[in-house]
Amino acid sequence: MTKKERVLAAVRILRERYPDAICSLNYHEPYQLMIAARLSAQCTDARVNIVTKTLFVQFPTLQSFADADLAELEEAVRPCGFYRTKAKSIKDAAQRLLTVYGGVIPDTMDDLLTLPGIGRKTANLLLGDVYHKPAVVTDTHFIRIMGRLGLTKHTEPQKVESDLRKLLPPEESSDFCHRVVLFGRDVCSARSPKCDNCPLSDFCPSKTQ
Ligand code: SF4
Repeated sequence: MTKKERVLAAVRILRERYPDAICSLNYHEPYQLMIAARLSAQCTDARVNIVTKTLFVQFPTLQSFADADLAELEEAVRPCGFYRTKAKSIKDAAQRLLTVYGGVIPDTMDDLLTLPGIGRKTANLLLGDVYHKPAVVTDTHFIRIMGRLGLTKHTEPQKVESDLRKLLPPEESSDFCHRVVLFGRDVCSARSPKCDNCPLSDFCPSKTQ
């Protein structure tokens, strides 16, 4: 199979297996997704969801994040780790969103990357989930599994993103990324992939059994 055929087969099979491709971070407002994604760096989505459940009550609007007392915000996000850096960038990003973008998450990669603390991974997440634009979210599961499927030789997120943008149908890319995360947790884990019970094993070059 060519790479293109492999990726299309993976898209189809994972779409059937995980029809509800939703982000594993909980949020109601787009700016809340930006904050949750910022907190998820070096932290599990499950822990972020526990923290944001109270954080979004304590700071109920974008303005309240922009006006936040930094020490108070740091304390609220402390369980996510790197809390000083994360709190500062969240406050700064909220201020920039309000002053430059009228409180609306921008819809281009270039603009998103001007927000403090926002890298390509979060920018892709926002483009895909908020604006339903083509997006390749290169989290650790995605990078590992794309490598195992022989769809990229790289591990650097931007290079993986570039390789997969050439292969993935644009309209499927964002949902596919969410599905790959679920698949990585269920089947193709980092340490013990369940190759003998994997729906992609027929064409996976890394199958071990
Ligand atoms: S066959 Fe194994 S390595 Fe390949 S995708 Fe499936 S679980 Fe992962």
